[in-house]
Amino acid sequence: MVNNAEKNALVVSAHSADFVWRAGGAIALHVARGYQVHVVCLSFGERGESAKLWRRGNMSEEDVKLTRRAEAQAAAEILGASIEFFDLGDYPLYADKEDLFRLADVFRRVQPHFVLTHSVSDPYNYDHPRASNLTQEARIIAQAEGYRPGEAIIGAPPVYCFEPHQSEQCLWKPDVLLDITTVWDKKYAAIQCMEGQEHLWEYYTRAALQRAVQAKRNVGIASAHVISYAEGYQSLFPRVTEDLS
Ligand SMILES: [Zn+2]
Repeated sequence: MVNNAEKNALVVSAHSADFVWRAGGAIALHVARGYQVHVVCLSFGERGESAKLWRRGNMSEEDVKLTRRAEAQAAAEILGASIEFFDLGDYPLYADKEDLFRLADVFRRVQPHFVLTHSVSDPYNYDHPRASNLTQEARIIAQAEGYRPGEAIIGAPPVYCFEPHQSEQCLWKPDVLLDITTVWDKKYAAIQCMEGQEHLWEYYTRAALQRAVQAKRNVGIASAHVISYAEGYQSLFPRVTEDLS
């Protein structure tokens, strides 16, 4: 196996659970290959994605945030990723210039070989495209020689948009299907850390099964390759290659 000890990846999640549903398999898979994967949660999803916690009653926003932080930390640990929280707030998630620079600094520090974030459109949740835009803009700033001159700039890591909750309405169409069969157990264990959103556990299991069927169709029915679970991604930039096979 290729030694990827020097390889890094960055995942930017609008809310504290998005990275688990949408990219947990990719994270665990690359960690298993020796990548260092770092997750940035821009918010805890305390207002918009914690309904079950609020229904407990007697919960303050601080209580919800603490619970969500603990869930996300436990999930990241299972997946093998490091994690940090920007605590920008959600519903709405807004970032100022300092937040943008803070994320650009993460890009410089991590030097990612690829980046995972949200789709560029989501009419059900404006925090998601805002997180995607922030990620892309931070990436561009981190590439600029004139930003903190003298620091090592980043290259041009590919950006993959992970699967939104309502794919068609988000104009999201996968052009990459990642086989996550070998790490599904880890992803499902991480999913189960998200007690505040138990209604999504089964939904994202079905999504992984469905993408696996699609993946199998695209490797050919004669292939001996067994794919039981997969994640879909949409790339933002063309892949540069000298080999089309
Ligand atoms: Zn979200």
